[in-house]
Amino acid sequence: QHLEAALPIARDLANAPVVASDLADIARDLAAARLPVADALDAALADELPILLRDGGCMRDGFRADLDDARRLSSDGRSVIAGLQAKYVEQTGVKTLKVRHNNVLGYFIETPASAARVLSLPPHDRVFQHRQTVSNAMRFMTPELGEIEARMAVASERALAIEVEVFDTLVASILSEEIALGALAAALGDLDCICALAALAEEQGYVRPVVDASTAFCIVGGRHPVVEQALKRERGPAFIGNDCQLGQPARLWILTGPNMAGKSTFLRQNAVLAVMAQMGSFVPAASAHIGVVDKLFSRVGASDDLARGRSTFMVEMVETAAILHQATERSLVILDEIGRGTATFDGLSIAWACLEYLHDVNRCRALFATHYHELTSLPGRLPNASNATMAVKEWKDEIVFLHQVRSGAADRSYGVQVAKLAGLPGAVVDRARAVLKVLEEAGETRKAVSMHETLPLFAAAQKPAPQPSPVVDALKAINPDALTPRQALDALYRLKELE
Ligand code: ADP
Repeated sequence: QHLEAALPIARDLANAPVVASDLADIARDLAAARLPVADALDAALADELPILLRDGGCMRDGFRADLDDARRLSSDGRSVIAGLQAKYVEQTGVKTLKVRHNNVLGYFIETPASAARVLSLPPHDRVFQHRQTVSNAMRFMTPELGEIEARMAVASERALAIEVEVFDTLVASILSEEIALGALAAALGDLDCICALAALAEEQGYVRPVVDASTAFCIVGGRHPVVEQALKRERGPAFIGNDCQLGQPARLWILTGPNMAGKSTFLRQNAVLAVMAQMGSFVPAASAHIGVVDKLFSRVGASDDLARGRSTFMVEMVETAAILHQATERSLVILDEIGRGTATFDGLSIAWACLEYLHDVNRCRALFATHYHELTSLPGRLPNASNATMAVKEWKDEIVFLHQVRSGAADRSYGVQVAKLAGLPGAVVDRARAVLKVLEEAGETRKAVSMHETLPLFAAAQKPAPQPSPVVDALKAINPDALTPRQALDALYRLKELE
């Protein structure tokens, strides 16, 4: 069917007024589908194919005379057997007699137990041989039935042998066209994918992104393609589009806001948009300008890898380490709540340090979602970072999520309100609120050290990394304890030469 579809599709593409170059390639591969094997398959294969070759019926009637003959013999047998039933009913007078078939016995004659005696007495006992007694019925054979059945078996075996032979020939000719067929399948697959994306873009109002060599990342009214659909399906509130502008003035956004406010969705949607834009798709946004991203890194969600001996926190750190080691100025990084898996101060310190490293050393575009409000003071000191927050409204101690990203920092986490929304028992919510109040007051008096001034931060990391040097390598290779004075002097001269 695909081979059949290929040619008309190739023709349509060839007749299209404007065809992008990759579509033209696809059309060329599809046009090559005029393979002899297509005709051979068409001529040989039946319209409705059996699931298993051994079920028979794979080949078309009229394709081979010997196959047709064998099939006729076998189906003639069936009508002769149908005639036998009428004949035996007449001979014996047993109206309830039936000729039946199952996979164990093949064909047999069955009568209810009450009528079976007639067949076991002369003169019928000479014709009907008892085969099996089952509850309420007896089964018999006759030489005539056996003979017809044997003839049918031979015929259908012959038919099947012919089918298998033809099938093997077809398989061989398909294999001999393997490369052309592979190209055809790939072209159809590509076309299918392109059409699906085009239809989606049309239906869902996606736009064509501008992708260039800049390091811009400017999304206006971006939407998450999957969450948007999920909301539509639930007939809930519409998805709120959000802007994301990384580059000038800030390439790193610190995103705060309560749980459920939409931080993860925002992070992921921007990453997804980058992937979609770079794979050639339109994107769910009002407009999008993306400077080519060389690597996309994400550290989102918590998952254990206990089977390999890693806790959640360890997994988080291993992944974060990989990002900090590998992200370049062209990369896009999304980090969701780094440092959550450990004690508060540990976590905050790690998040703080990672953020500075991304800013000062990796210098990539990044979205950094966090619950640590302390981090929102960093943009005051980091020129290319800025704060963004998910807007919420408070109403009678309840919280309403607006799902809008705005510049600025969240004033607090609203954790207790979200916990209440989630249905934590009232007593727990009240107690948490009281504990929070005490902790917050204690924190005030502790007068947090002004960390910006006291920490030298990434001064060290900003120094260029030491370059590998032959002198250092040669020095490392020397073991002073194993040298004679003469060898030591030689080594010194060699080092001098390497300088
Ligand atoms: P967070 O990471 O802040 O806890 P999520 O990103 O998991 O929040 O979002 C929670 C839920 O809010 C989502 O499952 C989705 O239903 C809804 N949501 C998120 N972003 C939007 C948006 N822009 N518009 C409408 N609904 C949204």
